[in-house]
Amino acid sequence: MLVYLDNSATTRQYDEVTKTMMKVMEDSYGNPSSLHTLGYDAEKLVKNARRTLAQSLGASEDEIIFTSCGTESDNTALYGIAHSKRRQGNKIITTKVEHPAILEACKVLEKEGFEIKYIGVDDKCRLNMDELENTIDDDTILISVMSVNNETGTIMPISEIAKMKKNAALHTDAVQGYGKVDLKNCKADLISVSAHKIHGPKGMGALYLKKGINLPAYLTGGGQERGYRSGTENVPGIVGFGKAVELAFGSFDRRITAMAQAREHLRAGIEDRIKDVIINSPEDGAASVLNVSFLGTRGEVLLHTLEQDGIFVSTGSACSSNKKGKGQSHVLGAMGLSPKEIEGAIRFSFSEFNTTEEMDYVLDKLEAAVARFRKLGSFR
Ligand code: PLP
Repeated sequence: MLVYLDNSATTRQYDEVTKTMMKVMEDSYGNPSSLHTLGYDAEKLVKNARRTLAQSLGASEDEIIFTSCGTESDNTALYGIAHSKRRQGNKIITTKVEHPAILEACKVLEKEGFEIKYIGVDDKCRLNMDELENTIDDDTILISVMSVNNETGTIMPISEIAKMKKNAALHTDAVQGYGKVDLKNCKADLISVSAHKIHGPKGMGALYLKKGINLPAYLTGGGQERGYRSGTENVPGIVGFGKAVELAFGSFDRRITAMAQAREHLRAGIEDRIKDVIINSPEDGAASVLNVSFLGTRGEVLLHTLEQDGIFVSTGSACSSNKKGKGQSHVLGAMGLSPKEIEGAIRFSFSEFNTTEEMDYVLDKLEAAVARFRKLGSFR
């Protein structure tokens, strides 16, 4: 049996997305900027995909910019707002638990002279809203808070933050929230999304840019994407993204129910069958993530043991966990977990394809792996 539980790292592309992309590559290879029919056909495909994305965010078509990934969307938003609003203020507020696509960009901005404030979280990764409210002042030009945390699934209250933002632009990294929580009414001014987390192609992202918010061009050249991001459009990627959005949002409730069932089955089974665990995800988190510390074990070893039984999980964010010497999860650290608790953490992340039968198989293998590890390590 193969049980894929690393859907926050990336998802399996929908077959229909692959077929659609193949057809575009074979038949619609024109450049959307060309004046002939092949160009026009490609332009129409891009326009349709843009409309699909806009609808999914409750936006209009001219508020969507296609990018090469969630990271590019995040970087574009942060650098763009910081540089265009520099005269209005110097303070940028974010959180301690953002993805490196935000935190590393903040480090660059810090070197440029911006003051960056990092808001803390509690033991379930819930944002300290009082600290946030007290930090926002008239000098604050940008607030960037993720909509769903990638390691714990904690949902951040973006629409609440929108009410307290004063003059700041509000950006949300919704790479993990898109297709999992409703973003239509989140009231953010900029929203980053990525295709490969919702069964679309890798290397495709988008940035929602609310009307009236202007950024300097990120890539200059032929003026594509309303001048924000020049370069010939990735037509197959864009169309594949649109198809994934159509499918994922077309079955939104069914998908979330399937994920929630798998997650709840696994959580209840772990609590029932395995002692000395800490559930790091909040109960009201997104249905897509369950983070658990198995005390007296090492997550990395558990990961490879489970892999031998065809079960694929993660110890944290895939984007940083593959970097040797990168250290422990900054997210779990900010939540106040001890180094040992962080060391024993596993992230299970779900898609609509996971079933409760799969979770029973995972529970059997997990229970045995944890017991074996603890016996060897003489835990308790
Ligand atoms: N932001 C979050 C919260 C993520 O989880 C990820 C990817 O894991 C990214 C940004 C980066 O997205 P991409 O892989 O499309 O660059």
